Amino acid sequence: MAVNTAINYRLPQVEQLLQHPSLQTYILALSRPVVTEIIRSQFALIRQSERFQVQGVEGVDVLAAVIKACEVQQSKRQVRVINTTGIAVHTNLGRSPIATELWDSAREVNTGYSNLELELATGKRGGRNGLLPTLVNAWLGAEDCVIVNNNAASLYLILHALAAGKEVIVSRGEQIQIGGGFRIPDILALSGCKLVEVGTTNITTSDDYINALTDNTAMVLMVHQSNFSIQGFTESPDIQDVAKRLPEHVQLVVDQGSGLSSEQYANSETSLSRYLHMGADLVCFSGDKILGGPQAGVIAGRQDLTQVLLKNPMMRAFRAGRIVLALLEELLIKKLNQEPSGEGVAQHTLLRCRHTRILADRLTVKWSPYAEVVSMEMQVGGGSIPSETYACFGLALSLPGKAQQHLDAFRVMPTPIIAYLHADRLMLNLATLLDDDLPRFEAQIEHYLQRFLSIG
Ligand SMILES: *Cc1c(COP(=O)(O)O)cnc(C)c1O
Repeated sequence: MAVNTAINYRLPQVEQLLQHPSLQTYILALSRPVVTEIIRSQFALIRQSERFQVQGVEGVDVLAAVIKACEVQQSKRQVRVINTTGIAVHTNLGRSPIATELWDSAREVNTGYSNLELELATGKRGGRNGLLPTLVNAWLGAEDCVIVNNNAASLYLILHALAAGKEVIVSRGEQIQIGGGFRIPDILALSGCKLVEVGTTNITTSDDYINALTDNTAMVLMVHQSNFSIQGFTESPDIQDVAKRLPEHVQLVVDQGSGLSSEQYANSETSLSRYLHMGADLVCFSGDKILGGPQAGVIAGRQDLTQVLLKNPMMRAFRAGRIVLALLEELLIKKLNQEPSGEGVAQHTLLRCRHTRILADRLTVKWSPYAEVVSMEMQVGGGSIPSETYACFGLALSLPGKAQQHLDAFRVMPTPIIAYLHADRLMLNLATLLDDDLPRFEAQIEHYLQRFLSIG
């Protein structure tokens, strides 16, 4: 057979394709150079493809290939998603949403210059903490505080600045891993401390700590078992007793983790202020778990110790930026005034649990016969209050086809809905559905259900 010389192998000009109306949204979303690069790499792939080699440009849909590649890149962007997992502080979903009023109130100070390190009263250079120690004192009764980028940094800084080259006593029940690759023994080793393990996985007593003390002991570190709980035959030390019996050169530090400041909703937990009251010299916790603020690590407690931390050279690497400090300041003021925007997402989710039945009933009627009301449990999550769950309601959707396929489809909606599967049904926990997300949530699901309704 003769070679068909009429085959067109000429792909469009890159510049010309960039003008195509259907690529304009991607240029806005991804930038022109990125879309240009996508076009180039798609062209390279097309040239290698068999279809192209046999049929030329007639055989391939160049535009469709480019759009598909743009979609893949666009799905990597950070977008708002709707959380119907029932986990309020969800590590994969950005932990704590920041209340709109809080976000707005920190706008002014951050979009201009600020007095970040300038004392307005004296004109002198100042520290970055500003009003924060005063607020933390009013909140927790702590003398002073240090703010760093996250709680992992809190822990490292505390260990490195107060106990490098010395012994740190930790219970075997608290040799935990928090999230990806963050293990307590590793962080101790990295910060230059010597780990002294005491007790057993389920039982550690005051005597265990006291008997392990040496002249070289710098610290007793207690770490919240944030992502699991041990049930049954367990015993934890009386913290007050440990604190009382420690010699002056040994500090009692509690990595509380979650930032829980009230035991109202979690009887099994100890609040930050109670740890301090019981004699902890320092406590540390995350800003974006129960507190509901920006990602940060907060270290609160004795001022002589916080001053040592602030003077440590590593502080320069760990200090929080102005955006974080401004948000924390606003958050704590609102919290102290008991304004709703000063309560973290966990608190709001707990309150929302009560209203989920009414919402579930309404949506079930609307989305009949696909939706069913199901009683569910909400968890705080994100390494906070692992042993408690809270009753709430949600929906189970039974749709034609595989549940997994619907789960995937919900995740690629214009505002992705993050659901979960249970017994081959799509589950939507309504406790974590933010009020602001409700209209979009309803509209998107309605749109999705249309196609099944039309099939009948
Ligand atoms: C979450 C947590 C950490 C880590 O905090 P990040 O803010 O994620 O760095 C450390 N310790 C405990 C006990 C935690 O719960």
